[in-house]
This record gives sequence, C-alpha cells and structure tokens, in this order.
Amino acid sequence: MSSTSAHSEFSEIAKAIRNVPDFPKPGIQFKDITPVLKDPTLFQEIIHWMAQPHRSKDLDAIVGIDARGFILGAGVALELGVGFVPIRKKGKLPYQTHEIQYDLEYGSNTIAIHTDAIRPGGRVMVIDDLLATGGTAAAAIRLLHKVKAEVVEACFFVELGFLNGRESMQGTPVRSMLNYE
Ligand code: AMP
Repeated sequence: MSSTSAHSEFSEIAKAIRNVPDFPKPGIQFKDITPVLKDPTLFQEIIHWMAQPHRSKDLDAIVGIDARGFILGAGVALELGVGFVPIRKKGKLPYQTHEIQYDLEYGSNTIAIHTDAIRPGGRVMVIDDLLATGGTAAAAIRLLHKVKAEVVEACFFVELGFLNGRESMQGTPVRSMLNYE
C-alpha cells in the first residue's frame, strides 16, 4: 500500500478514500473519493483547504476538469464567490470551442473549453480530484493559455507523487492536499 506524506495532517480524509484495485483496468489502484464526498464534514474540509489561499479575491474563475473536478471546483467557486468554468471531454460543450489532444498510456484524449469562457488575462485556478501522470492537467493548462488565461495554480485533492505528474506542469504552481509518495 502507498504511504502519504499528508496522512498525519488529514488522516480522517485519507482513511475515507477507498482504494479499488484493478479498476478500470488491471494494475490501476483507483482512488475512489465517493466515500469522502458523502461525508459533509470531510467534503467541506477539502473545499476550505482548496479555497484558503485565494480568499483575498485574487481569482476571476475556478476551472474544473471533467468530471470529478466539477464537483470540487464548483464548491470552491461558490466558497470564493467567483465563477466556474468547465473543461470538458470533446463533443460535450455546445458553443465554439478550443480543443487540445493529448496522449494517454494507450491512445489519446481530447478536451475542450468554450472560446469565451475566460476573459484574456483572467486569473484562474484549475482543479481536479487527482493528479496522476499529469497529462490531463498539463493539457488543461495549455488550453487555458489558448484563451490567454493566467493559471495562478493547479490544485488537486490527491496526488500520486510517485508518478511525478508535477513535472509536466512546469511554470504553474501545484498544490495537493494528500500526496501518495
Ligand atoms: P493523469 O492525466 O494521468 O494525471 O490522470 C488524471 C485524471 O485521471 C484525473 O481526472 C483522475 O480523475 C483520473 N485518474 C487517474 N488515475 C487515477 C487513479 N489511480 N484513481 C482515480 N482517478 C484517477
């Protein structure tokens, strides 16, 4: 079992994450956060922790990555009193979009953002539930640069630190609540 450097500080939350072996395919240890989300105290603790450094209203919007990034991102946006912008899988956004394709271990994925989602120069924090290889978050940051947003921070509930995903996001500060190293 992996250890996490943050166990002592957020031990209750760490305990509530359910590890599901071999989902969605053999060899993957899936971190199921649904037991955390259904506990309102733990859910709120994540939202507070993510929002905390930005209470001075330094952001224009929170950007959430499809799909669990929507759950956390929407909570943080409401707590900070700023807007929420979704980055979605290709074909889901109805208006004009920018798209970015990125490689997965097998095959590729395409994500999209509405062209008018953020004003040029808008300061945003991008949120997802989990940082693994960093491919998804790095693609999201490239997409945000296409709309000329300033990515102040990339923030995750869980980081699989042993995969070194941060390295794919050089130039963007990265923060995670629990890091499995
Ligand atoms: P990556 O692009 O490799 O950083 O993968 C990040 C995305 O895949 C996030 O949106 C996660 O929700 C999901 N993901 C990747 N690995 C896992 C895992 N072990 N447990 C849960 N979600 C994962």
